[in-house]
Amino acid sequence: RVKEKWAATQPKHPPTRLALQHFDSSYGAQLGPLWPSVRVALLSERKYGALLNSFSHDLVLEDLQVQGCRDFISHQDRLVFGAEEGSCEVSMTSLEFLSQQQYPPQLSPHLKCFVFPRGDVTRFKPARPDRYGLLGYYLMDAASILPCLALDVQKGHTVLDLCAAPGGKTLALLQTQLIRYLCINDSSMSRTSRLRKVLHSYVPKQFLTDENLRITSFDGTMWGEMERETFDRVLVDVPCTTDRHSLTEDDNNIFSKSRTGERRRLPQLQLELLLAGIAAARPGGEIVYSTCTLSQNQNLSVVEQAVHFAQEKHGIQLQVVSLKPLVQKFRNTFHFAPELHLGEMVIPHLAANFGPIYLCKLKRLP
Ligand code: SAM
Repeated sequence: RVKEKWAATQPKHPPTRLALQHFDSSYGAQLGPLWPSVRVALLSERKYGALLNSFSHDLVLEDLQVQGCRDFISHQDRLVFGAEEGSCEVSMTSLEFLSQQQYPPQLSPHLKCFVFPRGDVTRFKPARPDRYGLLGYYLMDAASILPCLALDVQKGHTVLDLCAAPGGKTLALLQTQLIRYLCINDSSMSRTSRLRKVLHSYVPKQFLTDENLRITSFDGTMWGEMERETFDRVLVDVPCTTDRHSLTEDDNNIFSKSRTGERRRLPQLQLELLLAGIAAARPGGEIVYSTCTLSQNQNLSVVEQAVHFAQEKHGIQLQVVSLKPLVQKFRNTFHFAPELHLGEMVIPHLAANFGPIYLCKLKRLP
C-alpha cells in the first residue's frame, strides 16, 4: 500500500471543502428542508445522458435501446405546447408575462438524448467512431438539453450561442438541423479550440461551412455593441460556480482562495452577458439564460436585474416566457425545484442525479 504523500503546499482548506461550507450556509437557507437530500445527491456520482449524434452512421440508437436506455425527449407523448397557460407570478411591475406562449407543436425529431431509467446508475460506454470518424453520442448532463429545448429553434432561424465552450449545447442545437446560421462564441481561446475539435468529431464537414456557422472568441459582454437586434434566438449559458464541479474537483475550482475575486464578480459578469444577449436578439426574438448552479444570486436575481436594466437603460421590453409545459413534459425524468417565481431549475436527486440546471426564457417585445 502506498502511503499518501502530504505536500507542504497542500491547502489546509481544499476548495471542495470551502465550496461545501459555502453551499451549506447559502443553500441551507435558500432550499430549507430540501437541502440535505440535494446535498447528498450533489456529493454522489452524477448521471449522464447520451446526446445521440444523428450525423453518425452507426446503429447507435438500437444499441442504446438494447442496453435499457430511452430517449427522454420523445419518450412521453410530445407536448402540445401552448395548451397550458403560464402561471408564474413575480413582484416586478416591469415584467409582462406571456400567458399563452405559442409554442410549435413539435420539437425537432433529430434531437434525441438517451438516459438510463430512474434509479439506474449504469454508466455509458465511451462513444465509438463510425467509418467516417464521427462519434455516435456525446455524454453530458441530460438536463443541459433543457435550455436548448426551451430555446425552441425553428427552421431557418439565426442563433447566437454566446458562451458556447466546450460545446455540449452547441452540439444539441446543431442536431436539430433547423438552424440557418449559428454563431458560436466563447471568450476563452483554449476552450474555443476544444469546441472546434468536438464539432469535428460529431458533425460532417459540409455542415461546418462559413455559410452555416461562425466561431469566435470575443468577450460576450461586448456583443450588444457589435451586433444588435440580429438573432432569432440567443442562448446565454453563463460561467457560474458550477456547483457539482466545485464540490468534487480541487483542480480549477472557483472556490480556491486565488479565485475569490473572480467568484464574487460572477453575478455582475452574468448580468452583463445576459444584457448583451438581450441586445443581440431581434425584436420578437427569444433569449434563454442558463446556469449549472443552485445559487439564487446567479439565477433569479440576475434575470430580474437584466429585465429591469434592459428596460431602464435600453428601452427594451421583455416578457418572461413560462416554461411550465417543459416541466410538465419532463417531470418524470428530472426533479424540478418547486415554486420558483422566475424560471425553472432541475435539482439533483439520488434517483435522477442530473443538474443543477437553472433556465429562464425571455422574449423581446417587437
Ligand atoms: N454552453 C457550454 C456547453 O454547453 O458546453 C458551457 C458554457 S460554460 C457554463 C461558460 C463558458 O463561458 C465558459 O466556456 C467560459 O469560457 C465562457 N465565458 C466566460 N466569460 C465569458 C465572456 N465574457 N464572454 C464569453 N464567454 C465567456
